[in-house]
Amino acid sequence: MNAYRSRVRGCLLGGAVGDALGNPVEFERDPAVTDLMLSRDGLALITDDTQMTLFTVEGLLHAAGGDVPKSVYEAHLRWYDTQRRLGPPKHAAGLAAQPFLYAQRAPGNACLGGLALGRMGTFAHPANPNSKGCGSVMRSAPFGLFPSISAADAFALAAECAVHTHGHPTGYLAAGTFAAIVRHLLDGDDVRTATERAIELLTGHDEHEETLTALRRALDTPYAPGNTGIGRIGLGWIAEEALAMAVYAALDAEEPERVRDALLVSVNHAGDSDSTGAICGNLLGARHGEEALPAAWVARLEGLDTISTIADDLVEAAA
Ligand SMILES: [Mg+2]
Repeated sequence: MNAYRSRVRGCLLGGAVGDALGNPVEFERDPAVTDLMLSRDGLALITDDTQMTLFTVEGLLHAAGGDVPKSVYEAHLRWYDTQRRLGPPKHAAGLAAQPFLYAQRAPGNACLGGLALGRMGTFAHPANPNSKGCGSVMRSAPFGLFPSISAADAFALAAECAVHTHGHPTGYLAAGTFAAIVRHLLDGDDVRTATERAIELLTGHDEHEETLTALRRALDTPYAPGNTGIGRIGLGWIAEEALAMAVYAALDAEEPERVRDALLVSVNHAGDSDSTGAICGNLLGARHGEEALPAAWVARLEGLDTISTIADDLVEAAA
């Protein structure tokens, strides 16, 4: 498989694996995840993080050089619709035709509320001006997956689409920073270098201090297991902490053999485990490619075919 395709598939499948790994323990105070937990049907269930990420991809693909924020907003409205129905309406197409995406897995309030507004948030008039929950970040990896879009442009687009639901500067700047990190990983940077380069973009924006402080903590805190390590970075309910915790865990896997352990680190804490797992999985998949993900975990993913297909669609569109 060529390296680009592997990184794109790795980013989307890795995010889904991390999401599914953290899903059962999102609301546990002291989780000890050692393996993927499966549903009665033998599936690793994804949550709103992966659902929204897939719709972000669909929005980017539909935009095809046109109005990206509008197209991503419309795609997220289709996701919002999945959360209000039991299954696909009759003439649904694309992701909206996939019954598994209609599952409600603790979707975030700011995402739901922002998309319920009936108008698209903009920098001048953002949705939820005080929200900086991690829902802006966990869906934003796809902005960094197009070689023709520079890291600076990926940052700007992710931030502009983040204000559809999260208007606090940290909410949209953390989303932009995440997209820029993914974009640098796509070019072959390691996690530390990609993060440092994304920080250079971040610090060019007003009100970057919270996101910068969280990322510096991730880069400077020595690796330690459990709450003495990742628990010192934060809980991950808010945007800058979720991103920083995912970066902290991913830093431990600059070698591909460490990916499995790093994904476990990313979910074993008292906070928002599925989101930190999803973001960490996005990072490690983009860093090392699909082959570095635990194959036994990927094979169990709910929606595996859909995730794989839209990843391939992205690769084809970007070619
Ligand atoms: Mg979730």
